[in-house]
Amino acid sequence: MKAIVFGSLNIDKVYSLSHLPEKGETLSCGRYEIHVGGKGLNQSISLSNSGMEVYMAGQIGSDGIFLKEYLEKVGVNTSLIKVTDSFSGHAVIEVDPDGQNQMILFPGANRETTPDYCDEVLENFSKGDLILMQYETSQVEYMIEKAHEKGLVIALNPSPYVDKLKDFDYSRIDYLILNEYEGQSITGESDNGKVIEALCEKVGGAVIFTLGGDGAIYSDGKVTAKVPAFKVNAVDTTGAGDTFTGYILNSLMSGKAPEEALRFASAASAIAVTKAGAAETIPSLEQVNNFLMEN
Ligand code: ADP
Repeated sequence: MKAIVFGSLNIDKVYSLSHLPEKGETLSCGRYEIHVGGKGLNQSISLSNSGMEVYMAGQIGSDGIFLKEYLEKVGVNTSLIKVTDSFSGHAVIEVDPDGQNQMILFPGANRETTPDYCDEVLENFSKGDLILMQYETSQVEYMIEKAHEKGLVIALNPSPYVDKLKDFDYSRIDYLILNEYEGQSITGESDNGKVIEALCEKVGGAVIFTLGGDGAIYSDGKVTAKVPAFKVNAVDTTGAGDTFTGYILNSLMSGKAPEEALRFASAASAIAVTKAGAAETIPSLEQVNNFLMEN
């Protein structure tokens, strides 16, 4: 069994400022960093670190070749990534000394995927393989339809939330992985028990609902499991959900019981939140196993 992550690859440009700029203000910035990003890229690393054979599929422009090189270096197969004439997706992130931020997100090549490209990608996969998607690229609905026809196991992280996700057809989704905000927005419920109930009615398979520092819940309508988050010194929770997603999918796909899978994924994301950054903080399988032995 192998996995494909069909998702976004982003360049994160981070500008550290004395304060967030006012309308019309020009601010000089002393510190500038570039990071690899995109939910697709992050989740492909997490799934690969967890021990699965992972192919990343998505689009970048020539300005994003380093994203592809980064993924190759960490062990993700990048042969299906398409380089187009467009600009790569990128985020301009302004951060003040208190860590407050504002962001401009340009989706670029991520939003220019075509049905033909999806078909080409899917030619490499067959029944029982896993496909994982988020909602930062175009053609997600098309990909679900075609992946279902081929008998792939379909996982969706419906993020970032947009209103279209309310009336979305989740019936072909085997694993829906989402956080509190996304769950409440999709269902219109504020009580988490009701959110899960409503999601289970929509989803073909299981719902995995993450609650930040309050842990995570698995429910497939028959089995329900809940685990608390590990108590750690959380420094930066960016990418916690991406780390969680890769690790839980590998655990569930390899037959672990829901509670054990939740614990495994919680350990991986607990390690990730103790460091600043996103993709760079996704732990290795060895780190997760060591953490679980110690905790
Ligand atoms: P997202 O990043 O999508 O918003 P969450 O914030 O729900 O996702 O976090 C996903 C998982 O990461 C949680 O279920 C939990 O296991 C872990 N996590 C998040 N925040 C913390 C924290 N402060 N301490 C320990 N674990 C955390």
